[in-house]
Amino acid sequence: MLDILVVGSGLAGLTAARVLTRAGRRVRVLEAAEHVGGRVTSRVVDGFTLDAGYQVLFPAYPALRRNVDLDALDLVPIPSGAAVRSGFNVEVLGDPLHDPGSLLGTLTSRTLGVGDKLRLARLVARLKLPAPHTLLHGPDETTENYLRRQGFSTRAVDSFFRPFFGGVFLRRDLHTSARLFRYYLRMLVDGGAALPRGGVGEVTAQLAGGTDVTTGIRVTRLVPQEGGGAVTAVTTAGEIEARGVIVATDPDAAGQLTGEALSRGSLGSTYLYYASSHPLDTQPRLLLRPSAGLINNAQWISNVIPERAPEGQHLLAVSVLELPGEDDAALDAAVRAELSGWYGDGVRNLRTLAVERIAHAQFLQPPEFSTTLAGHATGLPSVLIASEVTSMSSVQGAMESGEKAAAILLGDLAGMSRPRGA
Ligand SMILES: Cc1cc2nc3c(=O)[nH]c(=O)nc-3n(C[C@H](O)[C@H](O)[C@H](O)COP(=O)(O)OP(=O)(O)OC[C@H]3O[C@@H](n4cnc5c(N)ncnc54)[C@H](O)[C@@H]3O)c2cc1C
Repeated sequence: MLDILVVGSGLAGLTAARVLTRAGRRVRVLEAAEHVGGRVTSRVVDGFTLDAGYQVLFPAYPALRRNVDLDALDLVPIPSGAAVRSGFNVEVLGDPLHDPGSLLGTLTSRTLGVGDKLRLARLVARLKLPAPHTLLHGPDETTENYLRRQGFSTRAVDSFFRPFFGGVFLRRDLHTSARLFRYYLRMLVDGGAALPRGGVGEVTAQLAGGTDVTTGIRVTRLVPQEGGGAVTAVTTAGEIEARGVIVATDPDAAGQLTGEALSRGSLGSTYLYYASSHPLDTQPRLLLRPSAGLINNAQWISNVIPERAPEGQHLLAVSVLELPGEDDAALDAAVRAELSGWYGDGVRNLRTLAVERIAHAQFLQPPEFSTTLAGHATGLPSVLIASEVTSMSSVQGAMESGEKAAAILLGDLAGMSRPRGA
């Protein structure tokens, strides 16, 4: 009999399986989809490597550092700062997070005035002092309120923070918990943001190495056996018995399998990938759209990693928050219309590679969301949960949840008591 059956091969499930396999347990992972990795996957379309949505890694995430060989990922740093695009105008914000003081020279900045730059410098200096995980505690409010209380101007909030952190939180209203904002800002300051050269799917591919993962099998029901000590998993490919089960699906599916109230709502987002044989833009930084519209941010991926596009070709990823309409062609046309405000007739050179709609990209994380986080235990004997929903909707949250579920099964007290975010 298996020691542990893990349901779901996202970051949470793969991390749990990796820790348990390394500790000598007989572990098997069952994945409903045809691919490993859950939300963290990549695919090749016409020779272009497309991630499942615009995803970046924060190499400073402690759980990522513990479980993944970052050198083997061949991480390519995304140049820090951003390029704020208003029509044909581009304002490059050099490095507002790592070296806010360096911006003081650009007195004519339309996005961040001198006062805002000083406030950012002060905020970064203050957030650099404590241990990062402690930033997940303390008073909570919306990120927008927090930024206003720091004195940032409306222009700075609307033109920089809203599109930049809107892309991280997947909502532009900045109504996400300020604790998360402080933690993510610290992660960015400590390690910047990066993309694996071969696609973000390399992260889950690496985690899956050495683990017994079977795709294309959905677990439909979990039945603890009389007297405890084993669980029968009913699957689309028959029944499997294990001494214990870790449910590492998305929160809604985990709720259905365990009977726990795990749904915390969903933030959806949509991504459009374009190919171009002409270099429409040489900017490698994240492009921010300060005004409201469909596009929140965009990035010429091939300006950072040329290998993501075939020789002589260029790859643009456009992020649209939420799931606007259902008609891909209409959405594509509307996004192209916005892009023509940046690139004029050059937009005609763009060839649409993919429109990717992700219904559950993150769960909702309003102020105080951490007071309602799920635990790992369930009402089913020998069934535990590993999911972002026990921590935060992020790579760190999913991986540390997997680690913790494994630690509980291994009786590893140090692993069990590690604080969130550490
Ligand atoms: C576009 C996008 C951008 C993001 N950007 C960032 C970012 O920049 N930084 C960051 O930190 N985080 C980011 N995130 C969030 C992060 O990717 C997620 O929090 C994390 O991947 C969640 O991992 P998970 O293992 O909990 O869930 P999932 O990845 O959802 O894995 C769950 C798995 O369970 C499988 N499954 C479901 N039901 C069953 C069943 N009954 N039987 C078997 N298998 C089942 C699913 O198919 C899936 O593979 C982003 C997410 C998206 C979508």
